[in-house]
Amino acid sequence: MGIDQAEAKLNLIGFSRAELEQLALELGQATYRGRQLYRAIYARRQRNFALLTDLGRPFRDRLAAAYRIDYPAIQGKIQSRDGSVRYLLALDDGQTIEAVYMPEADRITLCLSSQAGCAVDCRFCFTAMLGLRRNLSTGEILGQVMAMMADQQIAPRSRLNVVFMGQGEPLLNFRPVMQAIGIMADPEALGLTLRRITVSTSGIVPRIYDLARELLRPRLAVSLNASTEEQRTALMPINRKYSLRQLIEACRAYPLRPRERLTFEYVLLDGLNDSDADALRVAGLLNGIACRVNLIPYNPGDGLPYRPPPLARVLAFQRLLSERGVPAFIRVSRGRDIMAACGQLSLAGVPANTAENLHVASPVA
Ligand code: SAH
Ligand code: SF4
Repeated sequence: MGIDQAEAKLNLIGFSRAELEQLALELGQATYRGRQLYRAIYARRQRNFALLTDLGRPFRDRLAAAYRIDYPAIQGKIQSRDGSVRYLLALDDGQTIEAVYMPEADRITLCLSSQAGCAVDCRFCFTAMLGLRRNLSTGEILGQVMAMMADQQIAPRSRLNVVFMGQGEPLLNFRPVMQAIGIMADPEALGLTLRRITVSTSGIVPRIYDLARELLRPRLAVSLNASTEEQRTALMPINRKYSLRQLIEACRAYPLRPRERLTFEYVLLDGLNDSDADALRVAGLLNGIACRVNLIPYNPGDGLPYRPPPLARVLAFQRLLSERGVPAFIRVSRGRDIMAACGQLSLAGVPANTAENLHVASPVA
């Protein structure tokens, strides 16, 4: 079959249970066939209609004629010394996005993109340099998880964390991100644990209030990155639209479940936001919020003028927060050598010295 013909078929990845049930009806089947298809696609992760023998021949044939089950194509992968693997994934329109697989002793974390590029324009972030290419669909978000699970042969029901910390601002692509999370967390679909799924935001305040009202709510991480309005506006121009004061107010109003905490991310930039006074102001801002702070020493790369602080400064910052009752952790960036660490997910950032590790994988069967 030619490529054009294949692409003319509609990809079922991203379809909800209700949508597949509706599809079954439209193709002259009983509703429960749609549910079977849903389980086959997401729980059993089948990609070939011919193998879905439980669906019955007529349904299978009609599906195969007009639909497909395709994950984003793996265009490249780069393996880091620490075991992380950075994926370059190609979407149907030729757009590329990135996702990262990060194995740890007792769990696996998958870092996903929510948009191709990002419009938010944080000064220290490499994705910002791409600008916003476009939003991702529900299927393109889910497809990242499924492509990595297939490629890494991740067993179903393994202890999997998902973080929306790749390209894009997830709260600016709200509905598709939430729909994808719904399918990830459905025991009949991917079966991931909702509290192991984290959405990270630069602070899109109205959407934080929307998130608070969602029935299926992932964990929330907020990229704070500064201790005063002026400083935050200089580093994150979005602060002009949604101020630090409004952001903290939204965080205070955020309804946490028992034992749940907010996470605040704080990128430490040498000489800019890493002083003792900054730490004390951060402790003040977060006073009374059930939270933890992840301190992320800036990951450097070509084209941006920032530097990470010396380790002693990072430790002092951490100590000041902890002493004031704000638990703070230094986040060891995974995949630094392959530019897959926070904020480094832009194609522009493929370091030359790892080019020999760029395996061009064969297309997903
Ligand atoms: N857009 C969302 C999620 C993706 S960015 C957000 O901004 O929260 C994920 C995290 O990487 C954010 O906390 C961001 O502040 C951080 N980050 C961006 N660029 C970085 C860099 N160069 N070094 C370290 N962290 C960075
Ligand atoms: Fe976008 Fe997040 Fe990067 Fe800011 S830090 S430009 S919001 S991806």
